[in-house]
This record gives sequence, structure tokens and C-alpha cells, in this order.
Amino acid sequence: MPKSHIHKLKRVTLGTDYEVYRCMVTGCTTYYATTMSVGLITQCWSCLKPFEFSGRNLRQVKPKCLDCSGKQKETRESRAADSLLERLRGIKL
Ligand SMILES: [Zn+2]
Ligand SMILES: [Zn+2]
Repeated sequence: MPKSHIHKLKRVTLGTDYEVYRCMVTGCTTYYATTMSVGLITQCWSCLKPFEFSGRNLRQVKPKCLDCSGKQKETRESRAADSLLERLRGIKL
């Protein structure tokens, strides 16, 4: 394991259709199911600063912080993704 770092996640597909966000830092083998990435502090692919991964980032292969994603207004689509996630998180497995 590399010493303490902020995970830099990239979306990859395991097997045929299982998508995860995998940390691309050398030596780190951490990965998360896509929906489990929300709320994590991760590194922006553009400015390299830490930011909190949100539902909006699930559409990005290389997640970027809000500043680097452009100051687009939240779309209806991303709000729908966020509320879906909230519902998913309310379910105890
Ligand atoms: Zn990592
Ligand atoms: Zn950024």
C-alpha cells in the first residue's frame, strides 16, 4: 500500500458489465462500487485538489470537482440521480 493519500478514482469495468471506481494511484488497489463512491473525498483529475464525490460525478469516467466540471447548472438528470442514491442509501442491506 502506498502511504496515506487521497484516492484518485477512475471508472472501470470489471468482467463484462460491473462498473466500479478504482483508485489509479500507483500501488493502491482500492475500488468501490459506483454508488458507494458518493460522499468519498477523492482527487480531481483536472486540478488535482480533493473534493467530495457526488451523484453528479457518476456520469464521469474521470471525476472532476465542481469547478473543473464547468459551472453548469445542476441538470434535472443529476438531481434525479442524487435522489435515487439517497433512496438507495436509505435501504439497509
Ligand atoms: Zn488509493
Ligand atoms: Zn478540479
